[in-house]
Amino acid sequence: MSETAAPSLRELQVAREIAHAFLTATRPTDVYRLALEQVVPLVGAAFACVFLRDPGDDLMRVVAAHNWPAEHASFLGSMRVRVGLGPTGRAVADNEVVEVHDVFADPAAEDWREPAEELGFASSVSLPLCFRREPAGALTFYFRDPGELCEADRSLLRLVADQLAAAAEKAHLIEDLQKANQRLRTQNVELEARYRQAEEARRLKNEFLANVSHELRTPLTAILGFAYLLREGIPGELGGEQAAAVEKIEAAGATLMGLINDLLDLTHLRLGRTTVELEECDAVALAHAALSSLNPPTTEIDVRCETPDEPVPALTDPVIAVRILQNLLSNAFKFTAEGSVTLRLNTLPAPPPSLSEHALGIDGGVVLWEVEDTGIGIDESDFEIIFDEFRQVDGSATRRYGGTGMGLALSLGLARRLGGDIAVRSAPGKGSTFTLILPTRGPAARTAPIEIRAG
Ligand code: ADP
Repeated sequence: MSETAAPSLRELQVAREIAHAFLTATRPTDVYRLALEQVVPLVGAAFACVFLRDPGDDLMRVVAAHNWPAEHASFLGSMRVRVGLGPTGRAVADNEVVEVHDVFADPAAEDWREPAEELGFASSVSLPLCFRREPAGALTFYFRDPGELCEADRSLLRLVADQLAAAAEKAHLIEDLQKANQRLRTQNVELEARYRQAEEARRLKNEFLANVSHELRTPLTAILGFAYLLREGIPGELGGEQAAAVEKIEAAGATLMGLINDLLDLTHLRLGRTTVELEECDAVALAHAALSSLNPPTTEIDVRCETPDEPVPALTDPVIAVRILQNLLSNAFKFTAEGSVTLRLNTLPAPPPSLSEHALGIDGGVVLWEVEDTGIGIDESDFEIIFDEFRQVDGSATRRYGGTGMGLALSLGLARRLGGDIAVRSAPGKGSTFTLILPTRGPAARTAPIEIRAG
């Protein structure tokens, strides 16, 4: 080993350059290579290696070497050093510098004589490399001659090992970050592709639903038409039982037509194909039209209509508005066994602040149609899901009350298409109030598809 005195100015300069290079290198292997290139000649070593521990393992492998004897180069890749064994292994296990002054004289280094002879070294210095204070590997310098390091070289090597560890740790972190970034980029690309596929699948599903619903309507219209002719006795008078059977066909056909129409309308809303035809309407007349088109299912229910005597003007699509009111009213009838169903009409100069942000977008007066019932009511925790398509508070209710869970999703979508909203107040056993709120001056221009909440 070299017996140099205190480090010269040139050596300090080199040490500073190493430190600078360490701080700018981003790949760990660059850091190791650079360190070995600079330091090996500086301390008069024959060659040197950086060993790193495999994660979760006690074995270390060589990640960088400088001047390693060429005839043994093939051996480097497969070389493994166990933590705790030999000078390099002990430097890691004990987290301290291990110096072997003479491999051939030191009894503790007996096992290393043969490799030392083959590789051509007589002494070595192994310094631990600590990442986050944990020894993660070692830096070992091999010298041709036996001997001891002078204090100056020793402290220089310690400094180099510390800097190397710090810079390598930084480089490892950067590398991890780059790999994580790359993974994220790949995942983003995959996610984007999947999103596009899902969007396309959704569009195709909606197209399919629209086509199927449309195609179903044609034969059903014929069935209903012929059932009507039979009921009217046009092809010939029917007997009592025959007439009853035809009535059942007509009723079932009408229900089926209602479902198909709901599905078609929901699909058109999703595809942004719902057309709105604005007219100057009387909100009172719309309320009466909706109410008179429905039959309350039992005589136990008191049906009330609380509307002003004079017309209430509103610029809206009357067909859609009546459709929404019919849905709300038929739900009220369906879920109310006794008591009352009230349709109330109010106007306000601006939307009430308690309504959602959709209604708050309205700039001007509003009409409020309240459908209040004394039926089974809804728990507040279910207010969200009842507006999702195909969702019901209690799935088993389908059998008890009938229905598909499309009515409210469709009504809400249509109300928003008209620039308004639907609000709900309810409590279990205390009845419900659904309020359709529409702007009196018509909706703001809107062409985007309406977001229908999926269940
Ligand atoms: P459907 O009535 O076909 O089930 P809707 O979308 O119209 O579908 O309603 C969704 C669910 O909201 C109903 O299944 C029911 O659980 C609840 N709901 C709607 N209106 C009322 C009401 N007036 N009273 C009690 N529950 C109601």
